[in-house]
Amino acid sequence: MTAEIIDGKAIAAALRADIARRVATLKSRHGVTPGLAVVLVGENAASEVYVRNKGRQTLEAGMTSFEHRLPATASEADVLAIVARLNADPKVHGILVQLPLPPHIHTEVVLRAIDPDKDVDGFHPINVGKLSIGEPCLAPCTPTGCVMLAKTVQPKLAGLEAVVIGRSTIVGKPVAQLLLREDCTVTIAHSRTRDLASVVRRADLVIAAVGRPEIVRGTWIKPGSIVIDVGINRIASVDGKPRLVGDVAYDEALVVARAITPVPGGVGPMTIACLLQNTLQAAAGVNRAG
Ligand code: NDP
Repeated sequence: MTAEIIDGKAIAAALRADIARRVATLKSRHGVTPGLAVVLVGENAASEVYVRNKGRQTLEAGMTSFEHRLPATASEADVLAIVARLNADPKVHGILVQLPLPPHIHTEVVLRAIDPDKDVDGFHPINVGKLSIGEPCLAPCTPTGCVMLAKTVQPKLAGLEAVVIGRSTIVGKPVAQLLLREDCTVTIAHSRTRDLASVVRRADLVIAAVGRPEIVRGTWIKPGSIVIDVGINRIASVDGKPRLVGDVAYDEALVVARAITPVPGGVGPMTIACLLQNTLQAAAGVNRAG
């Protein structure tokens, strides 16, 4: 058996096209153009690429893109002043502060300063709390993308044994919360989990968010399961050129799983698409119940 390859690139493109249609409707019916503001502090090559892609895809979706760049020497007060301005700006519906911030700036302080109704990354404690008590909220983008990809294979996930490897606040914990909402039976594994292989072996759905190249072996995968690989790891290949691999040994899992996401081209493209979806949701006021 060879697994279905879940084409995150195509699924993200279809989601962006659907968002663009909904943005056009919001504009024509309510005169609202969703606006996404990105704040970038300092110079980080990976962040630059990500911010450029976000800006381009925001415009392609028919939204307004705002970019605020500050030097690495900017103070925490400088960043907080921009966040306060964006919180008050009615043209801005989503605010994203690109991480990592320089070490002298407290990430938690900045993230908590963002208006929770504009927190399109879903990292504000209000949104984290709402996610855990099952209220409507802005949920983190990569986890939302993971669940969407799994649902392209099996629209109803209820009752599945889901194993999430990783417990970060960015991926592991929120994806586990989202899977609970889908009525999965969820196990969260981490670096202190005993016998990770046997935990993964009972999963109908595996979400690997570890950051360790190919840690999940094919022999760990239950035949017929769905495998969502969040990991992005740069390794040297035989010819010495760097290449990207996930947290799952792809070739091994491919012959056991029912469906699997490739790296790259799986979860990665979904993150910005889900960010645009959150921005649209924020602009439509879906989340503003209190
Ligand atoms: P973190 O480093 O914050 O978390 C990694 C998690 O993996 C931790 O909970 C850690 O456990 C666990 N872990 C580490 N080693 C092991 C091990 N040997 N066995 C079991 N668990 C282990 O990473 P992130 O969650 O931020 O990211 C995870 C991966 O996903 C990275 O490769 C990252 O690049 C990628 N990523 C991809 C995104 C995308 O858009 N595609 C977006 C975000 C991340 P413990 O808590 O005990 O330390």
